[in-house]
Amino acid sequence: MKTTLLSLALALALGGCAEHQRTLHVSADAQTEAMATQGDVADDPAIWIHPNDPYQSLIIGTHKKGGGLEVYDLSGKHLQSLPDGRFNNVDLRDNVRIGEQSLSIVAATKRDDDTLALYAINAQTRQLYPIAARAVETIKENYGLCMYQEGERTYVFVNNKNGTVEQLELFEAEGKVDAKRVRLFEVGSQTEGCVADDETGALYIGEENVGIWRYDAEANAPTHRVLIDSTGKNGHLVADVEGLALYALEGGAGYLFASSQGEHAYNVYDRQSGLFLGKFTIDDDVIDGTEETDGLDVTSASVGVLYPYGFLVVQDGHATPSNTQNFKLIRIEKILAPLSSF
Ligand code: CA
Ligand code: CA
Ligand code: CA
Ligand code: CA
Repeated sequence: MKTTLLSLALALALGGCAEHQRTLHVSADAQTEAMATQGDVADDPAIWIHPNDPYQSLIIGTHKKGGGLEVYDLSGKHLQSLPDGRFNNVDLRDNVRIGEQSLSIVAATKRDDDTLALYAINAQTRQLYPIAARAVETIKENYGLCMYQEGERTYVFVNNKNGTVEQLELFEAEGKVDAKRVRLFEVGSQTEGCVADDETGALYIGEENVGIWRYDAEANAPTHRVLIDSTGKNGHLVADVEGLALYALEGGAGYLFASSQGEHAYNVYDRQSGLFLGKFTIDDDVIDGTEETDGLDVTSASVGVLYPYGFLVVQDGHATPSNTQNFKLIRIEKILAPLSSF
C-alpha cells in the first residue's frame, strides 16, 4: 500500500520535517451521535467490519455508567443500545467457531458483577444479541479488556486496577459461549488499555503510569516482557497510558496506536520494531477536537471512497458543546502518510 504522492504532499504541507518527533495536527472526519447521558460515560470503541459490505460496518462503544454498549454506523448514526450494565472496555473477533456456526463475538468487561458480557453480531440485521452461556466470572474489579485469536482458539484478556491480567479461553456450551481461565499474571500497577496481535502473538498492555509493555499472548507462554515506550523523561507518553489498537498490514507490517491521555495526544509505533514514529492530536475544526481520550480502535480495512485506507475511532473525553461524550472517526492516511513510510 503505497501513497507516495499523498505522503509527499502532506510532508510538504507540514514543512517537510514531519517524520520525527513533531506533533502532527489533524481533525476528525465524522463523529457518532452523542451519548444520551452527560458526563464521563463513554470509554472504549471497537470497530466491526461487515464481511460483504464495508459501508455496513459498525462502531461499538462502551457506556461505563450503566448503559452497556451503544452501536453506531459509519456515519455515526445510533443503531442499537444494549443497556446491560457498567461496561468498561470492549473488543471483538470474527470467525469464532461456536458449534456449527462461525460467529463475530463481542466481549466487554461488566463491572457491576465482575463478569464477561458476550454478544454475537447478526450481519444481516447488524444487531448484537447476547450469547453468554451463563454469567462468566472474571477477576475481581475487572476493567480493561482485549481479545486474541490463535488458530481455532479465541481468548479474552481481562485486567484490573491492581495490574492483574487474566486470560480466558472461549468455548462453546450448547450453542452459546462460555469461558475458562487459562492464565493469570501481574503487570505491577494499574492497567487498562490492551491489544493483542493475532498474527505475531504479541500482547500489548498499558501500565497506566509506567508505559506500554509487550508480552507473549500465548496461554502457556512465560511472562517475560519488553518495554515499548514509557512515561516520564525517557519516553513519549504522558500518563495515563490509555487505549491501544493495531493497524495491521500484510506480512506483519503496520502500526500500534496509543492514547497518551495526559497530553490529549496519540502515539504511533512501528508494529514490527516497536519504534516510536510520532505523535498527533485531533484538533477543533468543523467537528470539535478530542481530549483526554480513553479507548480507541483502528482498522486497515478499506471502506471504499469513505475510508480507502481504513480509519481510527477515538473516544472524546471533552465533547463540546453539549457535555455529552461521543466517538470521533479520522481517515487514517492523514496520520500515517506524514508519520511513516506508509
Ligand atoms: Ca474518561
Ligand atoms: Ca484508565
Ligand atoms: Ca478507560
Ligand atoms: Ca472534544
